[in-house]
Amino acid sequence: MPRPIEALVHTDALAHNLARARAQAPNARVWAVVKANAYGHGIERAFEGLRAADGFALLDLAEAERLRALDWRGPILLLEGVFEPRDLELCSRLKLWHAVHCEQQIDWLAMHKTHEPHRVFLKLNSGMNRLGFPPAAFRAAYARLDALPQVDEIGLMTHFSDADSLRQGHDGIAHQLAAYDTATDGLAGERTIANSAATLRHAGRTAHDWVRAGIMVYGGVPDFPEHDAAHWDLRPAMTLRSKIIGVQQLQAGDTVGYGSAFTAEQPMRIGIVACGYADGYPRHAPTGTPVLVDGRRSRTIGRVSMDMLAVDLTDLPASGWGSEVTLWGEGPHGARLPIDEVAQAAGTIGYELMCAVAPRVPIRSA
Ligand SMILES: *Cc1c(COP(=O)(O)O)cnc(C)c1O
Repeated sequence: MPRPIEALVHTDALAHNLARARAQAPNARVWAVVKANAYGHGIERAFEGLRAADGFALLDLAEAERLRALDWRGPILLLEGVFEPRDLELCSRLKLWHAVHCEQQIDWLAMHKTHEPHRVFLKLNSGMNRLGFPPAAFRAAYARLDALPQVDEIGLMTHFSDADSLRQGHDGIAHQLAAYDTATDGLAGERTIANSAATLRHAGRTAHDWVRAGIMVYGGVPDFPEHDAAHWDLRPAMTLRSKIIGVQQLQAGDTVGYGSAFTAEQPMRIGIVACGYADGYPRHAPTGTPVLVDGRRSRTIGRVSMDMLAVDLTDLPASGWGSEVTLWGEGPHGARLPIDEVAQAAGTIGYELMCAVAPRVPIRSA
């Protein structure tokens, strides 16, 4: 028998969350962002739930090939553009749209031989200082692209650093929006500036032409804990679940796991779950990280080890060996444990937990 751990991908939840992105931005088209193997859900499985998207955005050319292999004929956008000149051949062949964020990518395009001109999105560095042309160089880059026979339509793109919160105590997007408006004023082209956080919190100011919905389609909340999944009406697209494969009775003074990091203060009963950091569960999740046992809330105890972790069964007398443990997502009897809560307890974000589910965990659609 295989280890009882598995990840479920909820196709209906993906479709629901995608519809939520549409409802937030009714006048825009929606890129479903499926980079990082669809945030750990698997491109092929995620595609089942996201077919209604207007396009798919990702980074990896191999992932773009996988989408075309699923017979997706619509738009695919490479969010970081190409990494070397010969990537452009694949763009021509698979009709990939690609971001252009640096001079090198324009040089490569200028030398590229193609029958079909490419559709590109010119990326502005509006203040995040990751990728993109600085405002002072943006119009010159646009003019260079515009003059190339290899380029057909030019879209305009930027990315926010603080759409999920305030920035230094002020509106999170105002300074970047101002830089973007100035740099792109009067330039023709479709625009895409909103990620999930901007789509949820600032749709009125950012949801033009195309929004790029990533974490929200997977049911993760970009501005947790200010808002939670119920507030935004998002459903978990992933459940990570396993079972209790051992039970221990503790006396006061007994310790649990490596480093004896947990000491029982009174008699307790604990369950040992077949899930550890080699499955992608965060090793830094401290004692007290929430879990569901048979759909009831409990907490982890002691250090997470490679293949196992411990949970408190003291107040769950009906649970024991063989009980179902929900690490995040949908539990039995309609119980739910948002990934954002687990992430917060472990000092990280839902994004990281989804992406980190290990290859040894079998994933199936549910
Ligand atoms: C990952 C990414 C997104 C999606 O961000 P979410 O916060 O997951 O919605 C959008 N745009 C770019 C450029 C990205 O890299």
